[in-house]
Amino acid sequence: MKQQLRQSIREGRIPHAQLFTGISGIGKLQLALAYAQYLNCPHRTDEDSCGQCPTCLQFEHLQHPDLHFVFPIVKTDAGDTCDAFLEPWREIILNNHYFDLDDWHSALGVETKQSMIYEKESGEILRKLSLKSYGDGYKVMIIWQPEKMNIATANKLLKLLEEPPAQTVFLLVSEHPEQLLSTILSRVQTIRIPRLETDIIAQALQQKVIDATKATDIARIANGSYLAALKKADETEENQKELSDFIALFRDAYTVGVLKDPQKKFDSLKRLKEWSMSMADAKVGREKQKHFLQYAQQQVRENYIRNMAQPELNYQLEAEREFSTKFAPFIHNENVEAIMNQLDLAERQIEQNGNAKMIFFDLCLQMIVLIKKPRI
Ligand SMILES: [Zn+2]
Repeated sequence: MKQQLRQSIREGRIPHAQLFTGISGIGKLQLALAYAQYLNCPHRTDEDSCGQCPTCLQFEHLQHPDLHFVFPIVKTDAGDTCDAFLEPWREIILNNHYFDLDDWHSALGVETKQSMIYEKESGEILRKLSLKSYGDGYKVMIIWQPEKMNIATANKLLKLLEEPPAQTVFLLVSEHPEQLLSTILSRVQTIRIPRLETDIIAQALQQKVIDATKATDIARIANGSYLAALKKADETEENQKELSDFIALFRDAYTVGVLKDPQKKFDSLKRLKEWSMSMADAKVGREKQKHFLQYAQQQVRENYIRNMAQPELNYQLEAEREFSTKFAPFIHNENVEAIMNQLDLAERQIEQNGNAKMIFFDLCLQMIVLIKKPRI
């Protein structure tokens, strides 16, 4: 892909608007930035920008006067256009390289997911692009997550794409191009960035001193996204907690539902009550509760698939696999759908601010009933 992009620049085929698409965490924004730098470096070689000239240095620090950014924001006292948020924006790119909208929201210190590209920004775009370019190069307007434009902004951008200012290149970086206006889509050249290969992700993780088995497991789970792999690697501790909560739920549900010993049944039921209380604890918070319920659905799915004895279809970490060797036979055609539905229902009830203690204890009772369903 890089080869193609370099070649198109060398041959002077420079579309005035390009759309870099693909899943989150594969380096789309970094590729767009590298493209912009290569386009403007006066000393580029066939292989790369020179990396040393003033232009390159300004691009690398995201400080070149002809490099402009548009991204979703949440209006605050700090301001209502992207310029007010350039500092955290540069910081997140330079420090993280890979990040998604959630990371950007945390960097902005906002909890809501209501960030967007406001109409006022289109005036800014117009103003910036009508300035004379600083050097002999191209003015570059990078629009990150253009799907976050409201309709008024999108229509104004469309006008610009129809009659682009001279020596200007628009680079749109999007994970959801299907949410863009079709009239915009038809005016950009789309560059589809593929998922990363599992081996490449595993190698990169190993350089972060993650042992080889774990790196390979995480890389497979990440399904082509380096960012997902990094997040998974970071989550290890939380993962262990979620796995042990998952194991506790199903072990005791099994004991109550299947075993005959009344004392054991009683002890397990008591533990399930305590489990519900601790899961529902206000300190845990709704987000973590929901995350656990999603995790549980994922594990149930993995355990069901495990029965098909097709290891290449399984995406689990070592500790999860270990539990699955015993647990998988209890998830089968007769109960898998009902178990998934109950976990999903609990997740939605948590989302709707239901009473967490009741939701988790109801879930335990449902699991007791479902886990003892015989396999046919
Ligand atoms: Zn250079």
